Amino acid sequence: MPRKTLNRRSILKGATVGAAATAATFPSPAISQENFRWKMVTTWPKNFPGLGTGAQRVADSITEMSDGRLTVKLYAAGELVPAFEAFDAVREGKAEMSHDAAYYWVAKHKAFPFFCTVPGGLTTQEHNAWVYYGGGQEFWDQLCGDFGMRAFLAGGSGVQMGGWFQKEIHSADDIKGIKMRIPGFGAEVINRMGGTAVNLPGGEIMPALQSGVIDATEWVGPWNDLAFGFYKIAKYYYGPGFHEPNSALECLVNLDAYNALPKDLQAIVRHACKAENVGMVSEFTAANSASQTVLVDQHKVQIRHFPDDVVKTAFSIAGDVVAETAEFDGLAKKIYENWSHFRGEAIARGPYAEQGYMNNRAL
Ligand code: CA
Repeated sequence: MPRKTLNRRSILKGATVGAAATAATFPSPAISQENFRWKMVTTWPKNFPGLGTGAQRVADSITEMSDGRLTVKLYAAGELVPAFEAFDAVREGKAEMSHDAAYYWVAKHKAFPFFCTVPGGLTTQEHNAWVYYGGGQEFWDQLCGDFGMRAFLAGGSGVQMGGWFQKEIHSADDIKGIKMRIPGFGAEVINRMGGTAVNLPGGEIMPALQSGVIDATEWVGPWNDLAFGFYKIAKYYYGPGFHEPNSALECLVNLDAYNALPKDLQAIVRHACKAENVGMVSEFTAANSASQTVLVDQHKVQIRHFPDDVVKTAFSIAGDVVAETAEFDGLAKKIYENWSHFRGEAIARGPYAEQGYMNNRAL
């Protein structure tokens, strides 16, 4: 009797039967065919270099990676809601997500700036490390969860410049009496140094500088500052700043909308944000270097470091201002303590890591 052999047909047949039997017993999680349409509000003008274009990339990446199963339409500041109503728009479900900076929401909870930037805080690399692997994301989930939202890192500018001044700064005394556009906790530091901090949206800075309403301003860095033309009014450009050492940006997501997504689309949202978290900082880094060359070579800008006593005074006051956030409530205290411990270890590590290398490289 010929030996019965498994030929190709019987293997295929068996495979089909096996697959059918498996499917009957364990229904496979077939890819959901349900389509989702999300709105993304932002705190940025349409296609504003770096910030607005980065937000657009997040929206486009999600749409592309999901092959249109989750389409995200971006609304620039003022198109659906004003810039500073993005938080409430996502909380109330008017939009499913937002691209913005967490320190704008300090009036909602004093701990939000820790997830963007605070004076004397972490660098971009350290901040990413704290959020992804140092406990930051868990605290962030807790903080945002209280508002029915979730947040993911989604970009950043890197360390910002200290700003544009019409006169040279020789010592901390020279800050006294200066009227400077500077937002957030950095504003409080300037006030405690004897200056007067003014908060103005980006579009109002140049007229205020021209008319003398302010004597000095910070904005972002060479790339964005060159575009605004501050060099035409103020000759001295100081950096790095003490006030925004990383300026991480976030995507806020409505928790109900996120939970309604199948797991693969949730992963696409998370990973689109993570991709832009690298992409935007890289774009800022490349463009800032090229723009600094233009400012110095073509526009003859005087680029300077702040004198040591300005730096020491600013960091000392910044330490007090940031520590005061812990008094807000129990969660703020826990976040401050966790962040502060992480920062302390990062400072001890610095001289033997990037900071040490960069100092050596400059010798
Ligand atoms: Ca700034």
